Amino acid sequence: MTARLQLKREDLERIHRQAEAEYPAECCGILTVGAASDLSRVHPCGNIQGRLHHEDPAQYPREPRIAYFIDPKEQFDIISAAERSGGRVSGFYHSHIDCEAYFSDEDKERAMAWDEPAYADAVYFVVSVFAGKIRGSGKAFGWQSESRDFSEVESEIFE
Ligand SMILES: [Zn+2]
Repeated sequence: MTARLQLKREDLERIHRQAEAEYPAECCGILTVGAASDLSRVHPCGNIQGRLHHEDPAQYPREPRIAYFIDPKEQFDIISAAERSGGRVSGFYHSHIDCEAYFSDEDKERAMAWDEPAYADAVYFVVSVFAGKIRGSGKAFGWQSESRDFSEVESEIFE
């Protein structure tokens, strides 16, 4: 099964507004689906990379402008709530600051648990913000079991 992103236009716009509001830090969040629908719901999350970097720069050398770290407690709560109601995680999103929406080596590393994808069915949606303004609508990436790598997948936006 190839993952693809299904989002309502208003939810896509929420991600765009969050990315602009949190510029010049990367924004991040989680996407979940319910039992009955493939349409993703958006859960904005705090990017704690700045705090981690400030507290322990040796362990977390990257600034929040070039990295994101979803608060693990927030992530756990969102995923548990989705699973309790019969749903699941459908994806993760984050923004790129003053560069294009692509799936970077760090993005891949973050999406892997050792040599397997942490969430093989999830899409990773990346939006691009230049000088505080969204550029384009974003790109979704999914795990391809044949190539054992991530590549761009379809994004379907519903009006
Ligand atoms: Zn990235």
